[in-house]
Amino acid sequence: MKFLGLLALLLVASAAIADDSSSEEEAGLKEAEECTPDTVCELPNCRCSSTNIPGGLQPRDTPQFVTVTFDDGININNILTYRNTLYNRRNSSGCPAGATFYVSHEYTNYVIVNELYNQGFEIALHSITHQTPQTYWFEATKEDMKREFGDQKIQMAHFANIPYESIKGLRIPFLQMTGNASFEIMKEYGLEYDCTWPTTSHTNPGLWPYTLDYASTQDCIVPPCPTASFPGTWVKPLVTWSDLQGVACSFVDACFFIPDRADEDAWYKFILTNFERHYLGNRAPFGFFVHEAFLSAFPAVRGAFVRFLDLINNLPDTFMVNSHEVIDWVKNSVPIDKYKAQGCRRFNPRACVARSCGPLNSSHNGMDYWMQICNVCPRVYPWLGNPLGQ
Ligand SMILES: [Zn+2]
Repeated sequence: MKFLGLLALLLVASAAIADDSSSEEEAGLKEAEECTPDTVCELPNCRCSSTNIPGGLQPRDTPQFVTVTFDDGININNILTYRNTLYNRRNSSGCPAGATFYVSHEYTNYVIVNELYNQGFEIALHSITHQTPQTYWFEATKEDMKREFGDQKIQMAHFANIPYESIKGLRIPFLQMTGNASFEIMKEYGLEYDCTWPTTSHTNPGLWPYTLDYASTQDCIVPPCPTASFPGTWVKPLVTWSDLQGVACSFVDACFFIPDRADEDAWYKFILTNFERHYLGNRAPFGFFVHEAFLSAFPAVRGAFVRFLDLINNLPDTFMVNSHEVIDWVKNSVPIDKYKAQGCRRFNPRACVARSCGPLNSSHNGMDYWMQICNVCPRVYPWLGNPLGQ
């Protein structure tokens, strides 16, 4: 499903009513206090929202992380782009390059999710239903979030046969924040970071990831944003790009004033201009957030994307990594030379005994679905409240 763009989000957001502290008390939450110079909040488990480089490093000593992410279902069509553009890439350090997939359940082929995991990429959550309208997410409760994300983690580990603990991040559909609701469930399900929250105010210098122990100073573009304290829960902000007219965009395919989509050189330059704001600035992680359909529809854009990856994979101080590796680095923010000396990320590949299942009747729309999975076939199509389709 295509991201609708910041403008549409702002329209919905204009109807927002922020959570007040009385509803926090009802839910047993503690209102987040302001982070002041006297506040005790130290890494690895606490960091106030800030554009300061973690560890007090100078920009030249700070690794420039690049996080490439793709959203939505994984299938036999979009995997071709992933194989052709991402597989077998290495950073200049010699370590495998990373990318993160925020996967939604419907029409996802779990055999291919298993393949992506075995290539060393990060699998993260993007909900079971990804349903419209966007107001569903705007109004979502803690219970809804448990069913969409907590249950999805169980579902993903089960059908793709990947370790439950390897799934650490989530992104809410349409980048629609849910106030405290999504953050309330994260600890319980072992989810370490959220990658939903865009910032248009803290782009130069860019906002670094931080925890929600104390009140966030991040601008709330798509309210409601969290108001309670969630110790040790991380926000990986979406530092927006600037399009050719200086308008902010969270996703590359949501930028409005863009170069001709047939002009590879112009697109390469457009990407570099946005990258340099980070690389020549405070080195806040640079995000390339996109949907695969945009790259497959516009070969010149895809060409520019590949050239950009080729470039950064040759820069000695730049690292294309899985999103959670950025959080790991912030917790232990060492200079570039020490970071390189730590070696590459490790993981154990997981087998998949592939099965094709179907037709599976679905309770939500009466349709029949087929599923490709690495486990025993479910009885019905898995959905909200029945993530394993039992
Ligand atoms: Zn999506």
